[in-house]
Amino acid sequence: MSVFLPTKAEHIASHEVICHECDLLVQVPRLQEGEQALCPRCGNNLGMLPKYPLQRPLVYALTSLIMLLCANVLPFLSINAKGMASSMNLYQAASVLFSEDYRLLSIAIYLCMQLLPACCLLLVIYLYIGFHRWQSPPLAASVTRWLFRLLPWTMAEVFMVAVLVSLIKIASLADIFIGSGFWCFCLFSVMYIKSMVHLDRGWLWLRIAGPMPPTGVLLQGKEGLAQGVTLCHGCHGIVDIGEAHCPRCQHVIHARVPHSVERCFALLVTACILYLPANLLPIMVTESLGQSHYSTILGGVVLLWNMGSYPIALVIFIASVLVPITKILALFWLCYTVYRQDGHHRRGRTRLYRMTEFIGRWSMVDVFVVAVLAALIRMGKLMSIYPGAAAVAFAAVVVVTMIAAMLFDPRLIWDAAQPNKEVERDF
Ligand SMILES: [Zn+2]
Ligand SMILES: [Zn+2]
Repeated sequence: MSVFLPTKAEHIASHEVICHECDLLVQVPRLQEGEQALCPRCGNNLGMLPKYPLQRPLVYALTSLIMLLCANVLPFLSINAKGMASSMNLYQAASVLFSEDYRLLSIAIYLCMQLLPACCLLLVIYLYIGFHRWQSPPLAASVTRWLFRLLPWTMAEVFMVAVLVSLIKIASLADIFIGSGFWCFCLFSVMYIKSMVHLDRGWLWLRIAGPMPPTGVLLQGKEGLAQGVTLCHGCHGIVDIGEAHCPRCQHVIHARVPHSVERCFALLVTACILYLPANLLPIMVTESLGQSHYSTILGGVVLLWNMGSYPIALVIFIASVLVPITKILALFWLCYTVYRQDGHHRRGRTRLYRMTEFIGRWSMVDVFVVAVLAALIRMGKLMSIYPGAAAVAFAAVVVVTMIAAMLFDPRLIWDAAQPNKEVERDF
């Protein structure tokens, strides 16, 4: 089995694809290794073939999984303040939340930062080791389906940034000792991202289940909806709108996400309601020499700014205040323009949607920071940090806005009934 040796060059033959952000039917030319196809109308990624497509995801995934195991076994961080020491291992990262009655939040943090990434790595390793033996390994379809279901909820890199922010926050209070487990976690995060960016849904399904059944003659440069076909979100194949399930991956077929605007709008209203306790209640309680200090998200930012920690104050402000508000407002505006059937700036609005999908998860930084600080700063009466109720509300805001962005169908932006001159300039 030549797992680590490059095999003969792969390629993807010329094929038709529908853009999942603007519904345009595009003929993608034959792709060689290292090439990527972009939608000529909205700039969305239509598919790619990474260099060494059978080797790189496997090597990165194996390295990443080994690093994650090392990060859990080796010492992670320890601090020393006024003769008192405190240390934590990675598996203890959300343990204080668990013991302080924030069990659900603690489980969610463990899931996002290492359990789900570990599951995704195992699925990738299973698939790609299987590819060296079979064209399509047993259960490949189910494994691929689960892989892409879990991927949006993995936040290893967000947790890594949160640890760095926590370290800078603690630096002025205590001496920090960075253990080898911390460096293993950094390597795990980098290798994890490298493994996942080398995955392409279209290529995987082509390999596992072969090409889609033909759907008749289709016109390039026209919308799929107008030609009675749509994109399968499961495998990125072209499917007849009349089909209930995709013939290749069994994903449920809808021409558009059902009640997309209404469901997205309802979730945004929920996020707005949750945003109030997230900002008004304390997110962190610091007990020092018998005194308790309650800090809200904004209060923490102001305190950091006044202490002169400008970069950290900015990171927390951007991640915890600016990103959620921008995301909520952007999605409200997108819902409103789709409801009004606005035909203006369609490419710009599609880019805005892409950005909201990308940035949303980074708001979890502050919740992770609270978890790390609470796990690390356990020095009895000298100083101890506990999570506040706002941490739960804030995590809920992030999750609800992420689901809202997933439910919004960007193709509705391009379905606007009244194209005009400005729209023509958009292309
Ligand atoms: Zn497009
Ligand atoms: Zn499919």
